[in-house]
Amino acid sequence: MTRPEPSPLEVLLAQSSALHDHLCPRQILGVRSALAAAGALELEFPRTDKRVLVFVETDGCYADGVSVASGCWLGRRTMRLMDFGKIAATFVDTKTGQAVRVFPQTDLRQRVRDSRPEGQKRYQAYLEAYQTLPDEQLLTVQDVQLTPDLNAIISVHGKRAVCDKCGEEIINEREVVQGGQVLCLSCAGQGYYR
Ligand SMILES: [Zn+2]
Ligand SMILES: [Zn+2]
Repeated sequence: MTRPEPSPLEVLLAQSSALHDHLCPRQILGVRSALAAAGALELEFPRTDKRVLVFVETDGCYADGVSVASGCWLGRRTMRLMDFGKIAATFVDTKTGQAVRVFPQTDLRQRVRDSRPEGQKRYQAYLEAYQTLPDEQLLTVQDVQLTPDLNAIISVHGKRAVCDKCGEEIINEREVVQGGQVLCLSCAGQGYYR
């Protein structure tokens, strides 16, 4: 007897869990969110080009699920972390400007807990439900408009500046001009360390 072919979702979950040595509910949500976004944007995922830019609202397992299924990675500059601590992501088609924000339905966890068979652990219930529920019962997909300028976020490959204060190089046009000086964000007072 031959094994049945794995479904596209199973293939993606296997890739995602291989990065983590485990499969967890958040990875599944990341993969499912990206697949739902592909449908809403009518684009093929995973991307091998830079057409789609994803804003993930948390790091961790969820973000890797999103990356594996969308083909968008921090390292490819096709993913950006907006650290809001939320299981949510906005997928932008940079060609058309269309953007969709995808997040788990706000009553999802409660629903899964309430409908699980007697004795089933919550974690197991989430694992199963997130793989089997149809999109309409799992996710909310909303059309949104980005507030920052897309071209400024993406910038132009090869742009370099040097901070007048610390002398470090700045790429991707992240420098600011203050009092006639070109400064990195740290020297401009927006640093995250002292
Ligand atoms: Zn995990
Ligand atoms: Zn500096």
